[in-house]
Amino acid sequence: MTNNKFSGKTQRKNILCFLGVHKWERSGGLNIYSSNVREKYFLCKRCGKKKTVYEPKKD
Ligand SMILES: [Zn+2]
Repeated sequence: MTNNKFSGKTQRKNILCFLGVHKWERSGGLNIYSSNVREKYFLCKRCGKKKTVYEPKKD
């Protein structure tokens, strides 16, 4: 019996993610009025990882 679960496309597709190179796509944002930073949400199109970036507001 051969287990092919960890071979093929999936692993190759995520090798860059494994190396920390994600394909970020903007998935939304939040503007907190009481704060001087703006939150931006990103989602990796390959592995689904999320990250939040804080950006200073310009006045
Ligand atoms: Zn990724």
